[in-house]
Amino acid sequence: MSKKKILITGAAGFLGSHLCDRFINEGFEVHAMDNLITGDLKNIEHLFKLREFIFYEHDVSNFVHVPGHLDYILHFASPASPIDYLKIPIQTLKVGSLGTHNLLGLAKEKKARILVASTSEVYGDPHVHPQTEDYWGNVNPVGPRGVYDEAKRFQEAMTMAYHTYHKVETRIVRIFNTYGPRMRLNDGRVLPAFIGQALRGEDLTIFGDGSQTRSFCYVDDLVEGIYRLLMSDYAGPVNVGNPDEITIKEFAEEIIKLTGTKQKVIYKPLPVDDPTQRQPDIALAKKLLGWEPKVSRAEGLKITYEYFKSLPKESLYKKEHNKFERYIKK
Ligand code: UDP
Repeated sequence: MSKKKILITGAAGFLGSHLCDRFINEGFEVHAMDNLITGDLKNIEHLFKLREFIFYEHDVSNFVHVPGHLDYILHFASPASPIDYLKIPIQTLKVGSLGTHNLLGLAKEKKARILVASTSEVYGDPHVHPQTEDYWGNVNPVGPRGVYDEAKRFQEAMTMAYHTYHKVETRIVRIFNTYGPRMRLNDGRVLPAFIGQALRGEDLTIFGDGSQTRSFCYVDDLVEGIYRLLMSDYAGPVNVGNPDEITIKEFAEEIIKLTGTKQKVIYKPLPVDDPTQRQPDIALAKKLLGWEPKVSRAEGLKITYEYFKSLPKESLYKKEHNKFERYIKK
């Protein structure tokens, strides 16, 4: 029997690369696509030797072509950290809207099932806690996060429209904060920020008073949830995340303990529209997919810390690459 064929966009990114690994292990032929603006080939270089792994450097905001048939599409291409989408707001809007449109069109043409990566950001700064899928959110469309949040909300609307109008088989995962190996050290997210600071012997920067909460999911758990959702028959949005909620201040204390750093925490201004609380309600995922996270924060953080420690020392001091500028000039 010939292998099932899947297209994964954003394949060289943190989540995309773990998904490539998973689908290769499941016996799929993986067609990986990335424009490498925030992704890194290092995350997938171990797969290039495989015949069943094919890579395309391409920006999915432009027309997407893949030869032959396709069984599945995972659309994971997008900048996903606040720092990134502040630097490249228009690309962020385009990949969530035009990129999604192109991939839905491809799914329709190939009669492939498509799963799009949405986000807890569709809930904005939520007034319902924990967040259930039927909550519509509290998003500022013109704030700094609007470019990401609204692109993802548009993505969900477009995906549902292709489902109802064109009968495309669609899936929507709402991803909450996720961490693990291959996160970028300098992407501004809280976990690499704190671990990077600890490894460099710097103080840990807490934004605001640290009372805002997040709920962190280990990447292997997330990938399992996504795999099960793709194989399910449910077209509505499904939260996938770890409900174990913690304040950022407590999180900093955990990182200090884990790394044994002698540094202290310092406080910086809270970014505009930074959500005050976030915790997924995963009752739907449990019921539909029989899924819940298995990896505790203590275990997941240990693995992630080992990964960051194993990186060449100079990467700790490397400023973010200049790919953004190069890309924007194009
Ligand atoms: N944060 C922080 N210090 C940092 C980086 C982030 O206190 O050096 C805070 C940030 O303000 C937010 C939380 O940590 O409240 C999570 O931020 P992240 O960028 O990881 O993801 P978000 O969930 O905000 O998209």
